[in-house]
Amino acid sequence: MFMRIDKLQAALPEPKKPDPNAAAALQELLGGKYGEMSTLGNYMFQSFNFRSKSNLRPFYSLVASITAEELGHVELVANGVAMLNNGPGDPRENVDISKTPWEAMQDIRLAGSFLSNGGGAMPMNSNGASWNMDFVTSTGNVIIDLLHNFHLECGARIHKLRVYETMTEPTGREVCGYLLVRGSVHAHAYALALKKLTGVEIEKMLPTPNINLSKIPECQKYLDEGSHRRLYRFSPSDYHEASGIWGNGEMALPGDPPGELELVDGHPDGGKISDMTGTYSAFAPDYAPQEIFEVASKLYKKSR
Ligand code: MN
Ligand code: MN
Repeated sequence: MFMRIDKLQAALPEPKKPDPNAAAALQELLGGKYGEMSTLGNYMFQSFNFRSKSNLRPFYSLVASITAEELGHVELVANGVAMLNNGPGDPRENVDISKTPWEAMQDIRLAGSFLSNGGGAMPMNSNGASWNMDFVTSTGNVIIDLLHNFHLECGARIHKLRVYETMTEPTGREVCGYLLVRGSVHAHAYALALKKLTGVEIEKMLPTPNINLSKIPECQKYLDEGSHRRLYRFSPSDYHEASGIWGNGEMALPGDPPGELELVDGHPDGGKISDMTGTYSAFAPDYAPQEIFEVASKLYKKSR
């Protein structure tokens, strides 16, 4: 089962202005073939379908704990998309729709983000194509699944680098910077798992593509705090066995700050979720704003 924590895995800076085309680029990292929905779907179904869980405990625990992290990545990218679509927000409640408050949106790349989703994120790629089950591989064969996962993380990394190269604004770049560090951890983890099972030193192919994290300013604080050496269990008491793969004297990749790999209890500290205001021109949340805020406020007081 899963537990939920009302935070993001990384703190995202608030955008200074809406940037819907940057949000559209980020959608590739959410619902693209190599996006977070795909890494989540792959590891989640592989962990559900995993055979000989007790005999293969370190490998099962690795896939299971990375699954939980990927769910948080979906959440992180989705928040980045919504923040970039929203910008600092428009607090005006009485927007005159005859003045075309959305005129700027007629030329954006992913118009459905506004016309259908009110500026929110959806499981689709940067062109609005739906994410789907065909992006999930769960073969039942532990080596083929792990090899697929290694490929998926390397592929996800190339997509993140390309998306990063398209954007100047800080919210989207932060999403890419954090996910590049974590993607590097996951590619390394699946490489070590394959090495333990087969003896093949597949980690020597990393980093693929061949750009060190040191070249990306947004990665630096995560490297400084050692995120590239950490894998999280995302559980109060389970999945310790993954330390046989991630840990056990294994070291950080050459090119990253040196140190021993470490399986960490629980989850990263992370950052708070942006409290985006309503978009009245999108009729969100609508109904009767002051009335529903008052209802919510009364219920909140009763819950304390
Ligand atoms: Mn991810
Ligand atoms: Mn990953």
